[in-house]
Amino acid sequence: MNIMVYNTLGRKVEEFKPISEEEVKIYVCGPTVYDYPHLGHGRTYLAFDIIIRYLKYIGFNVKTIINITNIDDKIIKRAKKNNEDPQELADRFEQIYYEDMDALGIEKADFYPRVSDTIPEIIEFISTLIKKGNAYESNGDVYFDVSTVEEFGQLSGQKLEEMRSGARVAIREGKRNPYDFALWKNSEEGDPYWDSPWGRGRPGWHIECSAMSMKYLGSQLDVHSGARDLIFPHHENEIMQSEAYTGKKPFVKYWIHTGFLTIDGEKMSKSLGNFITIRQLLEKFDPEAFRLFVASTHYRNPIDYSEESMNQAEQNLERIYNVKRLLENAIASNQLNGAKSEFLEEISKIKQEFFNSMDYDFNTAQALAQYFELIKSANQAITQNADKQILQTFLDTINELGRIFGLFQNERREKEIPEEVKKLVAAREEARKQKDWKKSDELRDKIKELGYLVRDYPDRTDILPIEKE
Ligand code: AMP
Ligand code: ZN
Repeated sequence: MNIMVYNTLGRKVEEFKPISEEEVKIYVCGPTVYDYPHLGHGRTYLAFDIIIRYLKYIGFNVKTIINITNIDDKIIKRAKKNNEDPQELADRFEQIYYEDMDALGIEKADFYPRVSDTIPEIIEFISTLIKKGNAYESNGDVYFDVSTVEEFGQLSGQKLEEMRSGARVAIREGKRNPYDFALWKNSEEGDPYWDSPWGRGRPGWHIECSAMSMKYLGSQLDVHSGARDLIFPHHENEIMQSEAYTGKKPFVKYWIHTGFLTIDGEKMSKSLGNFITIRQLLEKFDPEAFRLFVASTHYRNPIDYSEESMNQAEQNLERIYNVKRLLENAIASNQLNGAKSEFLEEISKIKQEFFNSMDYDFNTAQALAQYFELIKSANQAITQNADKQILQTFLDTINELGRIFGLFQNERREKEIPEEVKKLVAAREEARKQKDWKKSDELRDKIKELGYLVRDYPDRTDILPIEKE
């Protein structure tokens, strides 16, 4: 069993060999929490969800960190527009992000660090870069000096010299080179700030991911990922600052980037306004149909969203659930006697092909096509009254491979919440109304002991079962 993976660093397919056999360390760039996640986010996090599920399936011990960017200019801007406190806005959309990821059945990361909880580490990181001569202060801002490292362009193939000559990026006052990027930004009056050796300010975007990944995963990662828009400058900058900080230790072994989800051929994005939120999608479609839609395209390729494709995905999902029902019924009835053992060979052949597809750069598109071969073959076995044991093997294989795509989670989501938990939640609501925070926290812990999480929203409280793995 060899996993091959396309590494953006080097732009070729390589054998996947984690740095340590004990654990695969994965860092996925997380959301900037100022709005509802859209289908583009859904595509990227779902694609990695399937990759991670597969790595776990074949026996890797995976540790995943997804950060929460809760300090950002976009958050401040939106908060001003809403006349809301930026931190409250970010907290709200952080919860919404978790909720939407849950709704898509995405497995939780091991930890979701927030930028606002990582300020001391970020300040330490920046101070070290200044000490080493890789960064400089300028009027309360701190910039990374790209001319001090040789690594520029490792990931994106951009050449500093070429970029300089053709640079259209204006040299902002105080920057030594056009591509120097802010590690720390002076906060304007009225904006959120943290105290630092360079005055009141806040961290730049790129530094947070280096600081958070190192804090939770150490100075070298196996996989660092996000969609392809992050290759330049975000990930390029992360490499430069991280390797400058650690003294040229390769920061990341495999850079994995997803292609965009597009709509009418254009990248879905908040700034273009052409987005459909995950919530809007789920009003109409089953989350597992969206999974099939995402899996039907290789993660590196663009995928164009349309209702037509979603309708197709719904039909495909129905085919899967149908065959499962038919198999269960046939297995339960006693009228089957034909042996038809050739089906067993067919199952193991399809299974092998499925694994080959997944092993070669997680080709879910091909694996899904093979999965439907399995469904087709199962239908034939039912029509031909194949032996019980054969039908059972079909059912087991459909379940086993389907779970790699993250299917068959419906039962989990429909699980009824016990009365006892509901009562505690109501009591907690009451305590919150009375502003009895101590009691409310105690009740939250009790609820947690019973296996449920409460999530507060300004207008309601949700109860979610804690997933046990
Ligand atoms: P953001 O909240 O915009 O920082 O994005 C969070 C993650 O979603 C990043 O990895 C982005 O690259 C990714 N992303 C944003 N838009 C899209 C899109 N249209 N298709 C795929 N991934 C996207
Ligand atoms: Zn990042």
